[in-house]
Amino acid sequence: MGNAMRVENESKVTPLRMLAPVALELKELSKRYLSSDGGTVQAVASVSATIRKGEFIAILGPSGCGKSTLLMMIAGLVKPSAGTLSFGHASTQPSHPDFGIVFQDPVLFPWRTVQANVELPGEVSGMPRQERARKARELLQLVGLAGFEQQLPSELSGGMQQRVAIARALMLDPQLILMDEPFGALDAMTREQMNLEVQRISIESGATVVFVTHSIAEAAFLADRVLVMSGRPSTVRKSVEVEIERPRPIELMTSDRFGVYVLQLRQLLNVTGDAS
Ligand code: ADP
Repeated sequence: MGNAMRVENESKVTPLRMLAPVALELKELSKRYLSSDGGTVQAVASVSATIRKGEFIAILGPSGCGKSTLLMMIAGLVKPSAGTLSFGHASTQPSHPDFGIVFQDPVLFPWRTVQANVELPGEVSGMPRQERARKARELLQLVGLAGFEQQLPSELSGGMQQRVAIARALMLDPQLILMDEPFGALDAMTREQMNLEVQRISIESGATVVFVTHSIAEAAFLADRVLVMSGRPSTVRKSVEVEIERPRPIELMTSDRFGVYVLQLRQLLNVTGDAS
């Protein structure tokens, strides 16, 4: 009942997304790495995209095509060989926004409790002790881990550890959340559950999300828009709007409406096997 009402509300506001201010503008971004044999590897070639505030963007492409490289350039962790990246109206260097990042491996400190892992970004940025403790507790509640604050990461399942990583990524209220195949190592059931959680969190926080995946179904389920990448060097083959209101229920995945997107994305990727 509650869900149905939210779906109706969402469907009314969805078109506004297109009018939101620009969060991120990529202009002809390229990356060429030096390889160990002295040659070069062109990972990303001339990627251009405009991403609006609050959009959920999936970057979909085959393994090794350069998706992570693109995300790392957005994060400012890999320097582009060519092209520009700007946030809102300003250019990259002086105004890189706070962002939260989640990788496939949760990368938690094993000796720190769940609570202390989530608090870490607050600690590093000088947030007062009480405030960061309160914020971490709220976030653990948000990701469904209330009651696990004092556990060590090794006492949690893979899915729960990834929830901790998501809570940690949200610690500084980032307006940009970057996710690099965050659920690639999880079993199918846990992955579905996590997709629902990420969808909810992205809607509640209003953050812009850039989510890298090689799963067609995951991209179609989560994203407002899917950037379908070519093989390496990766460039945007097509930007596909998924015109289905969010939040989306998991049952959507078995509908014809959803199947049409899966088929379209698969054809664009030129994949013949099953989507994962
Ligand atoms: P994806 O995320 O799509 O799997 P990546 O961005 O990780 O792709 O990698 C794209 C290509 O760039 C791969 O051929 C990879 O070997 C190469 N590559 C990635 N990082 C480096 C690096 N630091 N040095 C050299 N080559 C790299």
